[in-house]
Amino acid sequence: MKKLIAGNWKMNTQAQGAAALTMDILKGLDADLPLARAVEFAIFPPCIHLPPINAMLKGAEIKPALGAQDCSPHANEGAYTGQISASMLAGYGCTHVILGHSERRHGLGETSETIRAKAQAAQAAGLVAIVCVGETQAEREAGRQDEVVAAQLEKSLPPEAGALNTVIAYEPVWAIGTGKTATTADVAAIHAMIRKWLSGRVKSPESLRILYGGSMKPDNAGALLSAPNVDGGLIGGASLKAEEFLAIGRAVLQDRAA
Ligand code: PEP
Repeated sequence: MKKLIAGNWKMNTQAQGAAALTMDILKGLDADLPLARAVEFAIFPPCIHLPPINAMLKGAEIKPALGAQDCSPHANEGAYTGQISASMLAGYGCTHVILGHSERRHGLGETSETIRAKAQAAQAAGLVAIVCVGETQAEREAGRQDEVVAAQLEKSLPPEAGALNTVIAYEPVWAIGTGKTATTADVAAIHAMIRKWLSGRVKSPESLRILYGGSMKPDNAGALLSAPNVDGGLIGGASLKAEEFLAIGRAVLQDRAA
C-alpha cells in the first residue's frame, strides 16, 4: 500500500497564500515524478479555499487529493447554520475529510459519538473519513494510552468502517504543534495495538491505513514512516511549506533506497 502524506493546513492561509501553496505543491510533484508515483499526497485547506483550489487541481495531471478539515454530522440539507455537508464537499472535489482532530475533540468539546455521526455522513457521501485519535500528556504519563485510544476507536468508528472508506490518524495530543514527537518505538507499539484492535471489527483491517501525526518534519519523517504499521503521516505545521511537505514524502523513498 502506498503511504499517504496528508497536509492539514488548519486555519492558515489567505486566498493568495492558499493558491500559491497549492501551485508550489503542484510544481514540486511535476518536477519529481518518482515521488508523485510512489507516495499519495492529500491537502486539507480551510473550507473557504476549496472551490478555487479544486479548480486549480482540475487543470493538473499530477496532483494531491483534496480534503476538508471537518463536515456536518447531518447527511441531508437543512437548518444547520454554519455547517457544511459531506456531499457539498464532494461536490467541490473533496475525496477525504479529517474528523475528530484533537483541536476539535479537546478545543471544541467534540465527542466520539459526534465524530461517528460525521464519519457516517462522510462515508455515505463517498468520502474517506480520516478519524483522529490520541491520548493527552496526562493519559500517556498514567500509561493509559492504549485504553484511551481503543475507547475512542470503539465510539468513533461507524459499523461500515473499512479500508476503503476510513483512515485512522494516531495523533498524541502532546505532540501536536509542540515540536515533541513520540519515539519510533512508542509509535510502533500503539500502531500495532490499533491494527490488532481493528482486526475482526472493520472490513479489510490489514489494509486500513493508520497515519501518525504530531510534529512530523522532514528530519524525523524517515524514522517515523518506516515503523511497522505506519502507513503515512498527518502533517500540520510542516504542510504549510511545499518543500517541507514534499520532503516528508521523499523520506519514504529514501527509506526504501536505504
Ligand atoms: C496536526 O495538526 O494534525 C498535526 C500533526 O500538527 P503538527 O504537525 O504541527 O504537530
